[in-house]
Amino acid sequence: RVMNKGQHDTFKSTCCYCGVGCGVEIKVEKNGSVSVVGNQSHPVNHGKLCSKGLNLQYTVNDRSDRLLYPQMRYHKSMPLQRVSWDDALDRTAAVFQTFVEQYGPDSVAFYASGQCLTEEYYVLNKLVKGFIGTNNIDTNSRLCMSSAVAAYKKTLGEDSVPICYDDIELSDCFLVEGANPAWCHPILWRRVEAHKVNNPRTKIIVVDPRVTDSCAVADLHLQINPGTDIVLNYAIGRLLIERGDIDLDFLERHTEGYPEYKTRVMERTLLEAAAICGVPAEDIELAATFIGESTGFLTMWTMGLNQSAIGVNKNLSLMNLNLITGKIGKPGSGPFSLTGQPNAMGGREVGGLANLLPAHRNMNNAQHRDELQKFWSGTTVSEKPGLTATEMFEALLDGRLKAIWILCTNPLTSLPNARLVERALEKAKFVVVQEISNKPQTLSYADVILPAAAWAEKEGAMTNSERRISHLQKAIMPPGEALPDAEILCRFAQKMGFNGFSYHKTEDIYREHVRLTAGTNITIDGLDYDVIDALNTVQWPYQKRRKMGTARLFQDGKFHTDSGRALLHSPPDDHHSERPDSNFPLILTTGRIRDQWHTMSKTGKVNKLNQHIQDAFLEIHPRDAAALQIENGELVSVLSLRGNVRVKARVSATIKPGVVFLPMHWGKILGSDLNRANNLTNDLVDPVSKEPDFKFCAVRVEKYKKE
Ligand code: SF4
Repeated sequence: RVMNKGQHDTFKSTCCYCGVGCGVEIKVEKNGSVSVVGNQSHPVNHGKLCSKGLNLQYTVNDRSDRLLYPQMRYHKSMPLQRVSWDDALDRTAAVFQTFVEQYGPDSVAFYASGQCLTEEYYVLNKLVKGFIGTNNIDTNSRLCMSSAVAAYKKTLGEDSVPICYDDIELSDCFLVEGANPAWCHPILWRRVEAHKVNNPRTKIIVVDPRVTDSCAVADLHLQINPGTDIVLNYAIGRLLIERGDIDLDFLERHTEGYPEYKTRVMERTLLEAAAICGVPAEDIELAATFIGESTGFLTMWTMGLNQSAIGVNKNLSLMNLNLITGKIGKPGSGPFSLTGQPNAMGGREVGGLANLLPAHRNMNNAQHRDELQKFWSGTTVSEKPGLTATEMFEALLDGRLKAIWILCTNPLTSLPNARLVERALEKAKFVVVQEISNKPQTLSYADVILPAAAWAEKEGAMTNSERRISHLQKAIMPPGEALPDAEILCRFAQKMGFNGFSYHKTEDIYREHVRLTAGTNITIDGLDYDVIDALNTVQWPYQKRRKMGTARLFQDGKFHTDSGRALLHSPPDDHHSERPDSNFPLILTTGRIRDQWHTMSKTGKVNKLNQHIQDAFLEIHPRDAAALQIENGELVSVLSLRGNVRVKARVSATIKPGVVFLPMHWGKILGSDLNRANNLTNDLVDPVSKEPDFKFCAVRVEKYKKE
């Protein structure tokens, strides 16, 4: 795998942060130190990296916080002590076996991450669903893309992102809703910006309650009230219909549900919709004009739509705009969900969520479950969906769940209603934490700690937002006794007495995953690491005979639904988030900042990245700050029914009056938990996707008073 022997060895990999999936080269010097540069030949980024990617090497070289050996305690009251891998996994297997025998397989659960490699996801899913006999495996992708997954399935028949990044240069209208790609998907956004410069007639519409950096190149910013996206999308839909800017031929031949949709969008007048959304009616008209006049139309979105108690419905209402205009499956057009995590898409391919099965098989399909049981030679796959992320911690709290295995994620910072998560982990009978860092607070609840290899220390595959599969080469050895996550899971499976987990190398896992996709709509039959390397990444589905991937889906107008038609859904446009009242009069929304990633366990170690924004802050509009007599930079308390946060106020007209914003990165990992946004958020979830309502809860802001 070594490309270049000289002063250093060079390995190809993919950035481990966002779902853009930029290619990188890891250069390992003779003294063992690592540098990371953009891969000039990678089709996604052509050598460019954003601030996070440019600083990857610091997170790789700084091993001061790494977990080096397994640790275990025999009783909750005892301290953790160093043990061998065999001791740690023997005890873990014995405890899991006991719970499964006494309480059934649904008494244990595994909570993983969209940062896991495809092979890790695959063996974990096989272990849990195919051998332990429960579907209690979920990941932090539940907090990220599950609303989009559900909406793609409802609309297109399967979780299939239709577009490719090259559609950016072929589009002349972008509707960016609930996303700030200038900060969260920077390399992709640079392509949009460059396209706009080269083609000034291209229109960019940004929909967001905040004025973000993405608005800098926008022709129109619709600063809507939180929770009103469906109202806005229906209002745009109504205008497009009234103006005749829809594709009736496409609707007739390739969709179902248009009459119901038309009835639904006619329920509100433009003026009503504008009043609910809190934007001028003329601006909604202008958005409809831009869309109606376009030849290529991309809808782009991420957490502003997904992380909502009506996340699926918001997604459906946006995808409808592509369907009524017939702008899907065509160059420059389609719905384009911006994946948050680097391998959330790979996890979806192998069915790595509590309600999914590998290769887009359906849990409620007996034939699909049977195929898996036969393929794995394991136990019967349960038809009962497993516990989702937030449900797992609720089940720990009420005693239904006895044991949880947390790998590659930091739920005490990232899950909503963090105090509930704390209480759940206190109540858990057995907690396994598989981690690279000694920082996350979950470790203090662990009965067993398993040290994992980090990015650059293991081999595997990832899939980015445009279905592009990359092969990540192992560049360096993990420190101490740390092991790749897939190897840890395989060793555990063998301790449990399960067959089918003695792979000679990681690629054998990948090949098994590939075989399971044969004959499905996401087939990558014929793919292995050599083929991916030879093709320099490949987009699924892979066409074995032509030895090439597929850039764009649904070009023939045939969708993956039973009827072959895309389905327009017309849900109600109201929302049921926690309403502000006289006690908690403001709406809190949470989100990312430019230079931090998730809960900062990696980016928080890099001085350069910390310099951008050093501390958590509360963004508040000058009108609200004045009413509360709060000055810019002043310490404030933010309170909700769940808890409180103490941060400095950032008084800024960039946020809508009545709305406040907290970044989601800070939490117990870096000491005090009084800057943890999730002290405030509630555990309300979308009823279909089970994605939490991170973008809407009621809070009160006060001047900070010392106790
Ligand atoms: Fe990494 Fe995303 Fe930045 Fe690319 S845009 S370098 S994938 S964080």
